[in-house]
Amino acid sequence: MSVLYDHVAFVGLGLIAGSMSLAMRKHGLAGQTVGTARTAQTRQTAREIGLCDRVVDSAAEAVAGADLVVLAVPVGAMGAVAREIAPHLKPGATVTDVGSVKRAVIGAVAPHMPETVHFIPGHPLAGTEHTGPRAGFAELFENRFCLLVPLEGTDRAALQGLRALWEAMGSTVETMDPDHHDLVLAVTSHAPHLIAYTMVGVADDLRRVTDSEVIKYSAAGFRDFTRIAASDPVMWRDVFLNNRDATLEILGRFTEELFALQRAIRTGDGELLHAYFTRTRAIRRGIIEAGQDTAAPDFGRSAKR
Ligand code: NAP
Repeated sequence: MSVLYDHVAFVGLGLIAGSMSLAMRKHGLAGQTVGTARTAQTRQTAREIGLCDRVVDSAAEAVAGADLVVLAVPVGAMGAVAREIAPHLKPGATVTDVGSVKRAVIGAVAPHMPETVHFIPGHPLAGTEHTGPRAGFAELFENRFCLLVPLEGTDRAALQGLRALWEAMGSTVETMDPDHHDLVLAVTSHAPHLIAYTMVGVADDLRRVTDSEVIKYSAAGFRDFTRIAASDPVMWRDVFLNNRDATLEILGRFTEELFALQRAIRTGDGELLHAYFTRTRAIRRGIIEAGQDTAAPDFGRSAKR
């Protein structure tokens, strides 16, 4: 493939930025990649493993001369980073972010952006429970969606350029309004994470009663909760603090449904339970048909563990 941006800068060098840098290298999409991270330790690791072409010590240095700047730090840190880089941005550059929440990030970043740059918020719907510079891999975005959330009056060519980049890294790109994005993500990602955190917390309390049985017999559904609940605490703290309204709305609905199911169990209403589970099973089929997961039993894990 051909070079889409001559000079790409990453602020933050964790799972997402690392994967983007490796994907750009794999497909030849960037003339050069430059990155920086907050701590000397992360910068050193990134240098050792050659995560990008150059690792520099400050965000200002990283973005100088860049055609594309990717903000890949926790949502709560976006505003401060935007303020820091603003005076050093090249006129005509595209600035994007990969934050899991969009309305709050736009509110934190947009006021700092000079009129001469194109700020186009984004969110790749791809990730793992691993973090840091060693967690990245070039294939992370393949067959995943990337949502772009252009602001009013966004330059069409700049948007097209960013879309082409994500498509070249293997993603399907869609555009979305920020509030709609935050609501959709509250349903599909944020509330499920909170529920997983809660379930694992409950099991941890129980473990004190049943000793190690929770760990020993965790092969059933619980193990998948533990994977989700192992996600980065800073990232997820920031997601909930910055997508408060939509998450609380979905959790309210969740609680109501939970009470309805609780009542059905108490009153022995098998018909309600059966109808409910039949409806939810169809959702799983829809995800598989959309190519977003495998139909293999147990998520395709081999029987041997
Ligand atoms: P990560 O692996 O933990 O990397 C985060 C990076 O941000 C690190 O380089 C870290 O630097 C830097 N950083 C942390 N706190 C900072 C601060 N206060 N100021 C400046 N830099 C800071 O995280 P990630 O998974 O790549 O996530 C990055 C962004 O992508 C987040 O906004 C997240 O919401 C979004 N996202 C994540 C996923 C996912 O599943 N992980 C998926 C889609 C989008 P040090 O290492 O030096 O501390």
